[in-house]
Amino acid sequence: MQSGAREILALVAGGVDYGEADRVVHLLTSDGALSAFAHGAKKSKRRFSGCLEPFTTIRAQLTESRRARGAMPTLAQAQAERVRLELRGSLEAIALGSYALELSRAVSPEGQDATAQFTLTEALLDHLEAAPATVALRRAFELKTLVELGYAPDLGACAVCGRDLERAWLDLVQGGVLCPLHRGQAREVGPKTLAWARAVLEAEGILPDGYDEEWAETAAQRLAIPVGAMWAEVLDRPLKSVALLDSVLGNPGTTSA
Ligand SMILES: [Zn+2]
Repeated sequence: MQSGAREILALVAGGVDYGEADRVVHLLTSDGALSAFAHGAKKSKRRFSGCLEPFTTIRAQLTESRRARGAMPTLAQAQAERVRLELRGSLEAIALGSYALELSRAVSPEGQDATAQFTLTEALLDHLEAAPATVALRRAFELKTLVELGYAPDLGACAVCGRDLERAWLDLVQGGVLCPLHRGQAREVGPKTLAWARAVLEAEGILPDGYDEEWAETAAQRLAIPVGAMWAEVLDRPLKSVALLDSVLGNPGTTSA
């Protein structure tokens, strides 16, 4: 490794070609989102060996010694740690994987510790290698991302007054479930939907065990509007990958939220 270089695990989120030979590569790392300049990326098989495809985990060598203020680090070399070829065989998986990477990059500013979000994103991509993309998987990833961001919802008692609930209305922007007195414009959610959301928050893996797939899918769809409202609150701008994801997975309600 050259002096002034650092080695870091990174997920390739995409990139754009620059001139005839070079490429700017968009990455998610445990130090947040960053972009790096890969000189000769389109030609140099030796330094990059074709591992700059999206969804690949790479061991990246970044050179920052001559990094001017605001300029990009150079990706001196990259080795594939995990390629995830299977994922690229399904449009649904590509759509969800792209969305997860874009969302994770949007909430992980460069230079801030993003270890947990990096791990969560890798777990989602690994899951997509083995199982189909579903709305449940998307929603679970979104809920866990909100927890990482410090927006863990209160799904037990009213988020405003702490009262126990027989019927519950959900507004994540207000902090979780709400009682009839504090429900405002929130939508009522059924006990099964809430139970699934709680199970997601408690699950070690992305998805909780022991849930019927159809049930989980219904619950996840019913959470579309409250979760969508949260992203409208948290993100600076809508994500580009949402339209494709909504169109291939089907997710009524999200776009109107
Ligand atoms: Zn209340």
